[in-house]
Amino acid sequence: MDSSIKLFTVRGIDIRMHITFPLILIWAAIQFGFLARGGVMGALFGVIVVTLLFVIVTLHELGHSVAAQHYGVPVEQIVLLPIGGVAQLSRIPENPIQEFVIAIAGPAVNFALAILLGIVALALDIPVSRPLETLVEVQRITFSSIFTYVFVSNLFLGIFNLLPAFPMDGGRVLRALLATRLEYTRATSIATSIGRGMAWLLGLYGFLGGGFFIILIAFFIYMGASQEEALVKTRAILRGLTVRQAFSRQAYTLRPEDTLQDAVNLTLSTFQASFPVCDGSQLVGLLTYPKLVEALSQYPPSTPVAEVMLRDVPTVSPDDELFDVQRLFQEKQLEAIPVVDNGRFLGLITSGDIGEVYRLLSVEPNLLPKERVVG
Ligand code: ZN
Repeated sequence: MDSSIKLFTVRGIDIRMHITFPLILIWAAIQFGFLARGGVMGALFGVIVVTLLFVIVTLHELGHSVAAQHYGVPVEQIVLLPIGGVAQLSRIPENPIQEFVIAIAGPAVNFALAILLGIVALALDIPVSRPLETLVEVQRITFSSIFTYVFVSNLFLGIFNLLPAFPMDGGRVLRALLATRLEYTRATSIATSIGRGMAWLLGLYGFLGGGFFIILIAFFIYMGASQEEALVKTRAILRGLTVRQAFSRQAYTLRPEDTLQDAVNLTLSTFQASFPVCDGSQLVGLLTYPKLVEALSQYPPSTPVAEVMLRDVPTVSPDDELFDVQRLFQEKQLEAIPVVDNGRFLGLITSGDIGEVYRLLSVEPNLLPKERVVG
């Protein structure tokens, strides 16, 4: 979380700027000032229009966010990156209508803005209908040239995001439309195949003269499609399975008074890398391998583990779903999570345990009964 800076809050959503964000402003200054020979004024023009563009990106992401909140999906934050913005929703609804509305809400903001700006252009007699002619004169900072640039970029943003390919909004729109008729995994598979096809075409166009930037976008689209397909496949396999069906009962634990030396001995003599710290049967902390290494660089080996262990440890219960736990692993960057029932330590679940279940069940889906009814 330290890699981004909070700007302000809207509807309970933190709008944050990634620390790499200023790179795009530097890029804009170089692009318009140096490469387009605009000089200092050109550089200033670049910084102004890119800043305005990101105001539009923020509004676009707020469009998704407000739609998500409407369906009761909490929005954690909106992060502005040099390549665009991301609204982090705590989950994407599998209900096709809800996904459709949330996905379309972003581009809808751009089209609403386009109409609004179009009316302003008409009223002020700004020639937005001839954007290219106006854009040739970008180095002159006039209200008219900035307005035209923002108008065109906003429209482009709306249209580009409707490309039917993940990770663009259009990919979700397409999947949602297919999912009203087909099974969710099947709909995803078709939508991601179309996305990959588009990535190939776009990449080819990039190689044939479209430029490096186009190739980069094609690459992102290809990766986005593959990631979404993997995610949905994982969910289909893991849904309905619980922690109880996969966790390790014979986990080694440490007592709070055990030393770092004890932890080293245990690490070297077992398969385990993270050790729950238990006072009797109660879990009080977790000593991970990175934490152990860090502690040994600062304290002598005789230090009790209680002094260095992680205290605010995420835990799961035997009834939790494996798919949710897998997301927790990604979020918390942990390798093992203690399994706890009313504070009582039962064992450990590792990302490796879930990986085993996934691989076994992708070969033979009926190896384990689905404990939870899939909703
Ligand atoms: Zn969007």
